[in-house]
Amino acid sequence: MDEDLLFRILFISIYAVFAGVRIYYRGQNLGRESEKEYTQKTKAIIALILAILGYFLTMGLWVVIPQTILLFQISLPVLIRWFGVGMAIIGIALTVWIHRSLGRQYSAKLEIQKEHKLIIEGPYSRVRHPMYTTLNLFSISVSLITANLLLILLAISIAIPFFWIARAEEELLIEQFGEEYLEYMKITGRFFPRLA
Ligand code: SAH
Repeated sequence: MDEDLLFRILFISIYAVFAGVRIYYRGQNLGRESEKEYTQKTKAIIALILAILGYFLTMGLWVVIPQTILLFQISLPVLIRWFGVGMAIIGIALTVWIHRSLGRQYSAKLEIQKEHKLIIEGPYSRVRHPMYTTLNLFSISVSLITANLLLILLAISIAIPFFWIARAEEELLIEQFGEEYLEYMKITGRFFPRLA
C-alpha cells in the first residue's frame, strides 16, 4: 500500500476513535446542574476557539481535498510519523483513564457541579490537569502522522491558551475547596508530575 494512503487511513481511524471516546464521556455528563460557572469570555478562550476552528478546517482539507494544502507537506521521517501513531494511541488510552477518574466532575466548561467532589486519585494524584496535557499531546502526535506543517503548528497553538485556562480553573477550584486544593497544589505538578 502507498505509504501516504496508509498514514491517511491511520490518521482518520485514530481520530475517529478519539472523537468517539470524547463524545461518549461528554454524553455521560449531559444534563447536570452547575453550581458555579466561570463565565468570563477571556482572551484565552477566544484564542482557543480560533485555534481549534483553524485546526478542524485544515484537518478537513487535509482529509478531503489535500491538494489545497500540499504546500505545507514536509518530508518528515517515517519514523516520526510512526512515533505520532504510537503516541496518539497512548493518548487515547490515557484519555479513557482520565475520564474514568474525573467521572461526573468532567465538563467542557469551567464550572463547579452540584455535589462536586475534588478528585485527587489516579492521574490526578500527580498532575492537576492531566486531561489538558493529554489532549494537547494527542493533537500534536496525531498531526505528526499527517506530516503537514500547518496542522502541526495549529496543534501547538491550541496548547498555548491552556496555560491561562488552567490558571483560571485553579482559581475557581481554590474558591470552592480552599485549603484542601492549596494543599493538593503543593504535591502535584500543573501539567506534568513534579520531579521532587
Ligand atoms: N483541568 C482538568 C479537568 C478538565 S475538565 C484536567 O485537565 O484534567 C474541566 C472541569 O474539571 C472543570 O469544570 C473543573 O471544575 C473540574 N476539575 C478540574 N480539576 C478537578 C479536580 N481535581 N477535582 C474535581 N474537579 C476538577
